[in-house]
Amino acid sequence: MTAETVTTQTATNPEPPGAARPVTASLSPSRAADFKTCPLLYRFRSIDRLPERPSAEQVRGTLVHAVLERLFDLPADRRTPTAAADLVAPEWDRLVAEQAELAELFPTGDLAGPTEFLASARELLNGYFSVEDPRRLEPAERESLVSAVVDDQLLIRGYIDRLDVAPDGALRVVDYKTGGAPREAFEARALFQLKFYALVLWRTRGVVPTVLRLLYLRDAEICDYRPDADELVRFERTVLALWRAIEQATAARDFRPKPSRLCDWCNHQAHCPAFGGTPPPFPEPATDVPPLTVAPPARVSRRTADGTSGTVPAQPVGTAPGQRGSDEPEETVSS
Ligand code: SF4
Repeated sequence: MTAETVTTQTATNPEPPGAARPVTASLSPSRAADFKTCPLLYRFRSIDRLPERPSAEQVRGTLVHAVLERLFDLPADRRTPTAAADLVAPEWDRLVAEQAELAELFPTGDLAGPTEFLASARELLNGYFSVEDPRRLEPAERESLVSAVVDDQLLIRGYIDRLDVAPDGALRVVDYKTGGAPREAFEARALFQLKFYALVLWRTRGVVPTVLRLLYLRDAEICDYRPDADELVRFERTVLALWRAIEQATAARDFRPKPSRLCDWCNHQAHCPAFGGTPPPFPEPATDVPPLTVAPPARVSRRTADGTSGTVPAQPVGTAPGQRGSDEPEETVSS
């Protein structure tokens, strides 16, 4: 396993500012949820790192998230549905300029496709305006990478879409969902993700978020969940147990398929034994990877396109510069 050095502090294990101590692994909520959903899916994404072609729905979600983040750059009284709709095309152009492969979503010569795609993004934004009025909100943070070390060994981290802070210090974590109606399995995964963020905030700021909010744009629905400290203690144990299970599976090179309804959304059926496929050979661990350092602060902005955020994205632990292809951090793969 590759050791890392971090300077992040935890609420449970305070250390002098700047003190460095080793942690052995890191985990994001998406990858943790992958393992819960299907251990083999975790392997394909985190160990084999098989490429995935994003669906139109996923790319639309990225675009809508970008527009909602940009919307809050405007003065409050200008955060209107029209302003959001006007941001769609320029944000799409920006995303394509940054990731040229996004343009491959549409076949050459398909002139209607991009127009319909942008129109569908505007429809989702209409859903947002029917449940929230951004003119009455001033988010404390947007697209923030938050991280904490739990149990002196595991770095947990992820990007929070939006964090609202009330005058009394109460925290509300907001996550935008751009998919369809929340089926049970998807909602469980989404809440797992939000509890993950709640745990990080509690461990780093000493405050249990008052509300974890899932905001479903397509259906214009809000799902609020109120965690408490006891629940987060149990959740922390769950995360650690999950990580130990990942470590054991990695040591044994034993990641089994766990078929479910979610297989319909899996990019890797061709490699999955449950669908008649064969996984690729298990990658051999790298032996010459130097220890990495994760620099403070614990929170940095994800967006730097126009420099308004003023910070540089944190490099995922265990990933060399330029390797990051996901819009959320990836965890170190122990081996
Ligand atoms: S197809 Fe289903 S069982 Fe196979 S790896 Fe994907 S999620 Fe797992």
